[in-house]
Amino acid sequence: MTFTTRFAPSPTGPLHLGHAYSAILAHDMARAAGGRFLLRMEDTDLQRSKPEWDAQIIDDLTWLGLTWDGAVLRQSEQLSSYDFALRALADLNLLYPCSCSRSQIQAALAAPQEGVTHEVYPGLCKHRPMASRQDGDALRLHLDRALALFDGAYPQFTETGPRHAGSHRIDPEQAMARIGDVVLSRKGEDIVAYFLASALDDVAQGITHVIRGEDLFDFTAIQVILMALLDLPIPIYHHHRLIRDDNGKRLAKRDDARAIAKYRAEGASPAEIRTMVGL
Ligand code: GLU
Repeated sequence: MTFTTRFAPSPTGPLHLGHAYSAILAHDMARAAGGRFLLRMEDTDLQRSKPEWDAQIIDDLTWLGLTWDGAVLRQSEQLSSYDFALRALADLNLLYPCSCSRSQIQAALAAPQEGVTHEVYPGLCKHRPMASRQDGDALRLHLDRALALFDGAYPQFTETGPRHAGSHRIDPEQAMARIGDVVLSRKGEDIVAYFLASALDDVAQGITHVIRGEDLFDFTAIQVILMALLDLPIPIYHHHRLIRDDNGKRLAKRDDARAIAKYRAEGASPAEIRTMVGL
C-alpha cells in the first residue's frame, strides 16, 4: 500500500509555527517514503471557516516549499457525503439529540475542567431518545455505549520511520473523563462536525498514516472508535511533539504572533522556519 498522509488544517486562522511543523513533517515523510501527501481543508464549521484563511494557508504552504498530490479536498463541498455514517451510528443506538446552549453547558460544569483541552459535556441530554429530536438539536455520540462495543487498540508509528511500531490501547475511563460525548452533527441541519468528518475523510482519501500533534491524542481515540464501529480501515497514527512558545506553553490555535505570514513579512526564509521548529 502506498504511504499516504495528509495535512488537514481548519481555515479558521493563520498558519502558525506549530502547523508549519506538522505540515513539513508529514510532507517530508511522504516524500522520503515515495508516497503521497494530501491537503484537506477541514471547513465544516461554516461560521468560523473563511476563504481568506484558506487562501493564506495555501500561500504559506507553497512558500514553505511544500507540494501536495491532487486537488485540495474541502469538506464544506461534500457535506451530504457524511450522512450515511450518521445513519449507521443512529442505527447502532450510539447517538442522542442535544439542545444545550453553551451557557447551559457552562452552568452545569461544576468546576473548570483542569488539564483537559476539550470541554467534557456534562450529559444533560444524555437520557433523550433519538425520537425526541427537534429541529435545531445537535447529535452527540453516546461514548459509554460506543466504548462498550469497541475499546480496542490502534496502531502507532514513530518519527524514525513509517513502520508500525506498536499499538495504543484506548483507556475507556480516560476517554470518558477527557473527551466524553462529542458533537457529531451540529444544530440546524445535519452538518457533520469535525470528529466524524475528519475520520471519514482519512478513510475516503486512503490515508495510511496520520501525522498530527499530540494535542489531538484524545481526539484520535474518538476517531478510531468511530472507524471501528463503522467497519472502516484504521490508519497508523503518529502524534508529534508540539511547538511551544518561550514560556513553554503550546501555541494556541490562533497564535498570530507566530503566524508564518508575520515571519514572511519580516523577511524570514523557509529554511529559517524549518530551523525554528527544529527540523
Ligand atoms: N483540522 C484540525 C486542526 O486543524 C485537525 C487536524 C487533524 O485531524 O489532524 O486542528
